[in-house]
Amino acid sequence: MNTRGLAPHQPSSSDPAGADRSAILQPHVLRLNYSKLRLLVIETGDRIHGFCRDISIPVLAREVDYTDSVAKDIAAGVYNCIILDGARGNTAYQEILTSVSSKPPFLPVIVIDGSLNFLRQGASENIASSELSAERMETALFNADRLCKLNNRSTILEMELSSLVEEDPLTALPGRSKFRVRMAKIIAKAHEAKKPISLIILDLNSFKELNESRGHDFGDKVLKTVARRLFKFAPRNSIVGRLGDDEFALLAVDRDLSTITHENFAVELMREIREPIFIDGQKTDVNATMGLAQLDDHDTADGLLHKSISALYAAKRDKVPFVVYTHEDDIERRQQLRLAQDLPEAIADNQLLLHFQPMIRMKDQEVVGVEALVRWQHPKQGLLFPDSFIPLAEGSGSIQALTEWVMKAAVKQGSLWLSEGHKICVSVNISALILHDPTFPDIVAQLLEETNFPAALLKLEITESAIISDVYRAKEIVTRLHELGTRLSIDDFGTGYTSLGYLRKLPVDEIKIDKSFVLNMTRIADDEVIVRTLLDLAGNLGLSVVAEGVEDAETWEMLDSLGCDIAQGYFMSRPIDIKNFGDWVASQPWKQELN
Ligand code: C2E
Ligand code: CA
Ligand code: CA
Repeated sequence: MNTRGLAPHQPSSSDPAGADRSAILQPHVLRLNYSKLRLLVIETGDRIHGFCRDISIPVLAREVDYTDSVAKDIAAGVYNCIILDGARGNTAYQEILTSVSSKPPFLPVIVIDGSLNFLRQGASENIASSELSAERMETALFNADRLCKLNNRSTILEMELSSLVEEDPLTALPGRSKFRVRMAKIIAKAHEAKKPISLIILDLNSFKELNESRGHDFGDKVLKTVARRLFKFAPRNSIVGRLGDDEFALLAVDRDLSTITHENFAVELMREIREPIFIDGQKTDVNATMGLAQLDDHDTADGLLHKSISALYAAKRDKVPFVVYTHEDDIERRQQLRLAQDLPEAIADNQLLLHFQPMIRMKDQEVVGVEALVRWQHPKQGLLFPDSFIPLAEGSGSIQALTEWVMKAAVKQGSLWLSEGHKICVSVNISALILHDPTFPDIVAQLLEETNFPAALLKLEITESAIISDVYRAKEIVTRLHELGTRLSIDDFGTGYTSLGYLRKLPVDEIKIDKSFVLNMTRIADDEVIVRTLLDLAGNLGLSVVAEGVEDAETWEMLDSLGCDIAQGYFMSRPIDIKNFGDWVASQPWKQELN
C-alpha cells in the first residue's frame, strides 16, 4: 500500500480541471498500489497530467496526439491504462478506442469530460471534471482495470474453447486462433523467464497458380509436405501452425537468434522447404517467402505476429527469400497502409492523372497510339508512380475504381484527339484482378456507349500472368471484350509461362515484348535471339508486335530490320503529361538521331 501524501499544486485560471483541484488539495492517502501502473495520458495541455501528479499517480507518458509511434507502443503493450481528454470531441479518439477495445488484450481507457459516445466506442469510464477527485480517479482506475481483466479472461477462454476444435484437418497443425492462444501462453512464460523467442511466418510463392494448373489434390499434397518439413525442422519446444491457405508459422522457443543466426536459421529452413517434392511421380519445386521477428520485452503475441508479418511483406515487396524484422519495415508498412486508405478518396478527388507514352509504327514513324500510365499527385508525398500504389489498390479493393478512372480519362483524351482529326489508339493497363471480374466487360461497354468512342481505338493491356492465373475465366472475359470491338494486347510478354497454345485460343491482337529483353538486345546475343523468336512466333499467329523499352537509336534500327511493328521507349519519349505531349508530337526530336 502506498501512503505518500499530496504535493501542493496551484491551479491556473486557464485550467478547466483547476476549479476541482481544491477538492483534492487536502492530504490524500492512495488506496491502491500503483507500482505496476503504466499510464498513458493523451491531452493537449497539462491538466490531466498535473492532476495525476498532484495525487501521486504515476504517469509513464503524456502525448498530444495518437500518432503512429503511440499506436505502436500501445500494440507492443507498453501501457496498461490510458486517460484521454474528452473535451476534444467525440471523433478525436475513434481510432484509438477501436484499437484497444476490439480484441484482447483490452486496455482500460478513462475519459475526462467526455460524452456517452466515448463509452459506446469502447472507453471503460467517463469522469466529468466537476466530479474529478482523487477518490473518483482511483475508483475509475480500479473498475477499469477489473473490467478489462474480466473481458480479457472471458475472451481468452472463448478462444481456447474454439481452439479445441480448431485444428487444420489437412495438415493436423493448429489453425490460426489455436496457434495464437498457444503462442500467448508461451510468450507470457518467456517474459517471466526472460527466454528468447522468435516467430517465423512462411508463405508459399505462386501457390494459387500451382493449385490452378495442377489441381487441388496436388495442392493439398504440397501443403502436407510443407507442414511435415516445417514440423521436422522445428527445434525442440517450438510450435508450428497453419495460419491461412498457404501461410505457416513457426514459434521457436529458447533459441537465442541474433540477426546473424536468424539468417542462418532462415537459410537452413529455406533449403529444407525448397527440396523438390515428388507427388504421383511428378516432380515439383516449391518456393517460399519468410518474415522473421524476435520477441522484445514489451511484445504481446499480437505484437510479435505483427512484426513477423511486416517482415514478410517487406520480403515480398523486395522479392527476397526472407527478411528479419526491423523497426523501419514497420514504419514503411504503416505508411503503405495509410496510402491504401487514402486511395479511394484520391480517386474521387481527382488526384490521379495520366501520363502518355507514344507508340510509334516503325515502318512510317507515325504516332499510332499512346499508353496511358497513371500517376498520383499526392498532396503530401508529391508525384507517385504506379509501382508504389497499384499493388496497394489491388490489395485494398480500389483497383476497380482506379481502372474505371483511368479508362474514362484515357477515352476522354482519345475523343479529344479524334475531334482534332488524330486517330490515336489509347492503351490502358488492366490488372489481373479486373480480368477476373465478370462485370468488367459491361463497364467497358457502357463507357463506349456513353462516349461514342470507337471501340477499335481502345486497347486493353493484360499481362501474361493475369491470364495464366485463371485461364478459363480470363478466356471468357477476353472473348466478351473482343466482341465489343476493343483491341487486346498481352503485356510483359516473355516473362510468364504462356505457351503459345494459350494465345491461339484467345482473341488477342497484339503482344508487347517485355522491356527486359529489348533493353539490352543490341549488346546481349541471347536477348536478341529471344526477340527474334518472339517476332517469328507472333508473325505465324498473325499478331502485331510492340517492343517496349527502346532506349536508343541502335535498338530502334535493329528492331526495324527484324520487322517489328511498333516501338515504345525512352528513346522516342518518356511518358509525359498532356501539355508536353502536344509539344513533343510537333517537334519529335528523336527522329534527328536516326541514321
Ligand atoms: P508497364 O505496363 O510495363 O508500363 C511500361 C512501364 O515501362 C512504364 O513505367 C514506363 O515508364 C516504362 N518504360 C517505358 N519505356 C521505357 C524505356 O525505354 N526504358 C525503361 N527502363 N522503362 C520504360 P510506369 O509508368 O512506372 O508503369 C509501371 C507499371 O505500372 C506499368 O508497367 C503497369 O504495369 C502499371 N500501371 C501503370 N498504369 C496503370 C494503370 O492505369 N492500371 C494498372 N492496373 N496498372 C498500371
Ligand atoms: Ca503496359
Ligand atoms: Ca510492359
